[in-house]
Amino acid sequence: MRTYNYSDLEPVQLTELLKRPKIDFASIFGTVQPIINEVENDGDEAVRRFTHKFDGVDLDEVCFNPMKQEVSLSKEAKEAIDTAFDNIYAFHKAQVPAPLEVETMPGVRCMKVARPIERVGFYVPGGTAVLPSTAMMLTIPAMIAGCSTKVLATPPRKDGSIAPEIIYIAQKAGVETILKAGGAQAVAAMAVGTESVPKVDKIFGPGNQYVTAAKMILQNSEAQISIDMPAGPSEVLVIADEQANPAYVAADLLSQAEHGQDSQVVLVATAAFDLKKLEQELEDQLQELPRKDIAKEALEHSFILKVEDLNQAFDFSNEYAPEHLIVNVGEAESHTEKITNAGSVFLGQFTPESVGDYASGTNHTLPTYGYARMYSGVNLAAFQKSVTMQVLSEEGLKNLGPTVEKLAELEELQAHKNAVSIRLKDIQ
Ligand code: NAD
Repeated sequence: MRTYNYSDLEPVQLTELLKRPKIDFASIFGTVQPIINEVENDGDEAVRRFTHKFDGVDLDEVCFNPMKQEVSLSKEAKEAIDTAFDNIYAFHKAQVPAPLEVETMPGVRCMKVARPIERVGFYVPGGTAVLPSTAMMLTIPAMIAGCSTKVLATPPRKDGSIAPEIIYIAQKAGVETILKAGGAQAVAAMAVGTESVPKVDKIFGPGNQYVTAAKMILQNSEAQISIDMPAGPSEVLVIADEQANPAYVAADLLSQAEHGQDSQVVLVATAAFDLKKLEQELEDQLQELPRKDIAKEALEHSFILKVEDLNQAFDFSNEYAPEHLIVNVGEAESHTEKITNAGSVFLGQFTPESVGDYASGTNHTLPTYGYARMYSGVNLAAFQKSVTMQVLSEEGLKNLGPTVEKLAELEELQAHKNAVSIRLKDIQ
């Protein structure tokens, strides 16, 4: 891994290190827009065509109801899913907001209540791996929020079936429709609706560049959908000091590097951290990995940044705004105030990122590409919208009415003023 000294960096070098690999969306949009158009025009038939073309599968059915399926899973697999499900459920259930009510003036009461987004779609990637964890991260908060229409899209396996783990999770979360398709065609089918795919209002979930491009195009289209966030390749930034075990740090860096060649892996280390030992551990552990070729390539464009102290480390991390931040330093929890930009944070030497990827309870659908500066990861609120309400008593209107009359007058909106004056006349 390339190594830099934070203090020696010129501003232009620092800017370079903060950058992510550029994604050429212009050319991807050119591929994706015609797919969307065809799904709009031909519905299910277009979904079948593209699934044949890109996934090599001739679908017997475009959708099915998972509730009606028998699922065969080992006891161990079920237990692992059940434990993760319960933890994710518990953490997201605790996010249910209390209703808010404020009396802003005597007789003027304002309320804010949460309501579910009624129809939601989940994209669970499936091109190169089955991702039951993503299915849980998306469906569980939707179930808690009370979303009434839940559609889960995922590419079919070569024999046209859907992995039993995904079906089992869909059953537990009350998903009524599984769409057996991936890529832009699946996103388009959920956004516009087809003969068998219910139209949704918001689409969640990570995916490859075609999936992301389809979400980006459709959120700005007449389909009137919103999306969770733009997504790019997954990333981790590890901060390590002298107490961090280099073997643990290497394992954490590799756990991210094995995601894909385009994964971003960054180590920010204080001078006392044993970098020599780390390099050795990386080499040794890499050899044992089935996905070592992918991980090796990811490491080649990753880097180590040496810092003078932890303040410098957190400054850099906040500028980088990583999707995942591992703080492997002494008394890690005492540094949380310094963290301003990060998707999800893993504190201390016994908290590898993997626990949040699967089962601690936090969500793993997180902002990449520096978007942690302004986006949150998926959480319960992402499946809700808030509705505000207000109620004025006679006293309230007497108190507030003159202010509103004056402001309406300043804006020269006579009808607005009248709506108040006509009532004040009756009660004065
Ligand atoms: P995917 O499900 O995202 O995409 C597969 C689909 O892409 C196929 O079904 C096909 O329809 C479509 N496709 C393939 N080639 C195409 C082409 N040439 N033109 C148009 N469409 C085409 O699965 P994937 O490809 O394995 O990608 C998964 C992605 O999800 C990875 O980038 C991974 O990093 C990401 N991911 C991110 C997170 C996260 O939380 N950030 C979690 C899991 C996965």
